[in-house]
Amino acid sequence: MKKYAVILLFMLGFGLAQPTATGTGGAAATVDALATRAAMDILAQGGNAIDAAVAAAAVLGVTEPYSCGIGGGGFMVIYLAKDKRVVTIDHREVAPAYFNPSVFNGPNGQPLPFAERVNSGLSVGVPGTVKGWEEALARYGSLSLGRVLQPAIRVAQQGFTVDATFAAQTQANLQRFRYFTSTSALFLPGDNVPAVGSTFRNPDLARTYLLLASGGSRAFYTGPLAQAIVNTVNNPPIAPGVTANIRPGRMTLADLANYEVRIRQPIVSSYRGYTLYGMGLPSSGGPTIALALNLLEGFDLKALPRERALHLYLEASRLAFADRNAYMGDPEFLDAPLAGLLSKKYAEERRKAIGERAAEGSVQAGDPYPFQQDPSAPLRPRAQTQRWEGESTTHLTVSDKEGNIVSYTFTIESTGGNAMVVPGYGFLLNNELTDFDATVPHPNSPEAYKRPRSSMSPTLVFRDGKPVLALGSPGGATIITTVLQTLINVLDFGMPIDQALAAPRLSQRNLQTTGVDGGFERSPEAQALLGLGHRWAPTAEIGALTAIAFNPDGSVTAAAEPVRRGGGAAAVERSR
Ligand code: GLU
Repeated sequence: MKKYAVILLFMLGFGLAQPTATGTGGAAATVDALATRAAMDILAQGGNAIDAAVAAAAVLGVTEPYSCGIGGGGFMVIYLAKDKRVVTIDHREVAPAYFNPSVFNGPNGQPLPFAERVNSGLSVGVPGTVKGWEEALARYGSLSLGRVLQPAIRVAQQGFTVDATFAAQTQANLQRFRYFTSTSALFLPGDNVPAVGSTFRNPDLARTYLLLASGGSRAFYTGPLAQAIVNTVNNPPIAPGVTANIRPGRMTLADLANYEVRIRQPIVSSYRGYTLYGMGLPSSGGPTIALALNLLEGFDLKALPRERALHLYLEASRLAFADRNAYMGDPEFLDAPLAGLLSKKYAEERRKAIGERAAEGSVQAGDPYPFQQDPSAPLRPRAQTQRWEGESTTHLTVSDKEGNIVSYTFTIESTGGNAMVVPGYGFLLNNELTDFDATVPHPNSPEAYKRPRSSMSPTLVFRDGKPVLALGSPGGATIITTVLQTLINVLDFGMPIDQALAAPRLSQRNLQTTGVDGGFERSPEAQALLGLGHRWAPTAEIGALTAIAFNPDGSVTAAAEPVRRGGGAAAVERSR
């Protein structure tokens, strides 16, 4: 039996995984074959979608350690079929008690260079993932944390096969991984990038998961593991001879012990008869997507020539980002004018700003206050300096035969987080606090106990009370445009989900240029759009989406990327 399991893991590890699967019963789509397999195994053992999602996430913590893991945080959007309701679990990282608006400034008062912010103890938010998993299981799961961690413990012990993506990500991090003794010991065996095809084991992480399996989140947020996190943040394990300026943080045991997840209302919006449930603040994902769709609802996209429809998509996204950048942040710290921003009347007004040609560069935020119930609210728009926003992260999508659905995005922010492995525990710490804005005052300025604004956009779409689509993606701020564009591809252009997610991506975020991948800049539509003033910034790839489509005939289609990030893995309980 054990041998069989090992052979199966081996085969899946070698890319026999399918990016698309259609059938009945439960389904899963992740970026990784072993994670998808873990989700399906848990479903087969009688677990529900919530159990399966945590199992898959824990495996991703092993096989995608640069994108996600217990050193970070995330957002889970859950549909509970029996109750017919959607809940969201915010387990975003929180700034420690010592944090303040000038924490990222150097001695001269100037903001520190970005790399010095990332590779520091300052950028580490109190991780939320373990409490997020525990809370999801306790409230909505059917199995224990100890049980759903089993597949991940096995993968960490037995290892996974290093693929080209893992090797390339390690290579890209080579220099900063060498800054820290614990990190090079784990990820640079023999001081080098692990060879493609070799087996990568993480026995420390296996032991950490075993600790959580028996001790629950207490074993993470208190005791020796909590102490090890605090030590790493405050006294980074810098290798001898490193000259880079690596600043410590000042996290305390109390910061860890006090961490809390938040159960939040989803952002509910409508688009052409569909109902969308998105992640609310502190993620800007849900509101920004809703805002852009409200703008687009005024145009019959499917009846327009494709380049015209794409022009409208880009300009709607530009306007939505202007408002996102100006108004959104942690809802416990500011009263963002969401009612106004998300009203259809505001969209009617704001839509007038979409021209026949691309706007030149960045546009100003709109004024949603007349559309609020109380138009006197004090927050005024804040211009935001454009800054780099991550490209790490991972998204997974799981459903079960009872109809429960989980759309889950989680991250450690940059690929490789802050580059510090907690010595002896086998996981990287996040640099999530670089998601704060350096501009002060700003809705997203750094403050103690605050959660930095996110772009993560786990999303569910319904029609007439029935699920239609669950989806999400990594990619920093491009997460928002990736999810938005995929929604339009499906809901407006009628593309099947596998084609919708494989299509070239266009990402306009209120910038001079539009990011494009998949060779879009060479397409006839791209040429036509140049004539309207659009400018392209071609890039290797944008996002890595996973989704489940609930088909009208009662079947489900799970879908992952065929190419981006080396391709993902989709599975269904009974395939067709
Ligand atoms: N930190 C980012 C966010 O929360 C996600 C990072 C990424 O996707 O690279 O929006």
